[in-house]
Amino acid sequence: MTGKEARERKLKEIREIAAGWGKIISQEAFPNGPGLDVSLADMEEMAMAASRALVQGAVEAMTDSQSERFGDEVPCPICGKMCPLKTVRRPMVVRGGDAAINEPVGHCPKCRRDFFPAAAGVEG
Ligand SMILES: [Zn+2]
Repeated sequence: MTGKEARERKLKEIREIAAGWGKIISQEAFPNGPGLDVSLADMEEMAMAASRALVQGAVEAMTDSQSERFGDEVPCPICGKMCPLKTVRRPMVVRGGDAAINEPVGHCPKCRRDFFPAAAGVEG
C-alpha cells in the first residue's frame, strides 16, 4: 500500500466516524427528533456549530501533541546554544473553523532573539 492509499483509507475511516458523531449531534440537538417547524437552515446551524467545534478540538489536540515533541529545550539556530522553550497561544483561522495553536518559541539570551522551531522544521 502506498502512502497515498494509506492516507485515503485513514480519511475514509475518519469520515465514517465523524458521520456517526453527526447522528449523535442530531439526537443531542433534537432529542425527540426535529419538529416540522425546524427548517433545514436550523439543522444546518446545529451541524455547522458541531463541525467548527470538531475542527477546533482536533486541530488543537494534534498541534499540542506535535509541539510536545520539541521537549523543553532546543538549540538556537544561530549559535547552537540549548535554549528553553515556552509556548505562545496563537489564535488562527483554519479550514472549517478557528483554533488556538500553542506554538513553541525559544529565546536565545546570547543572540537576544526569539525563534520558532516548528517553522524551521527543527526537531529536538
Ligand atoms: Zn543563539
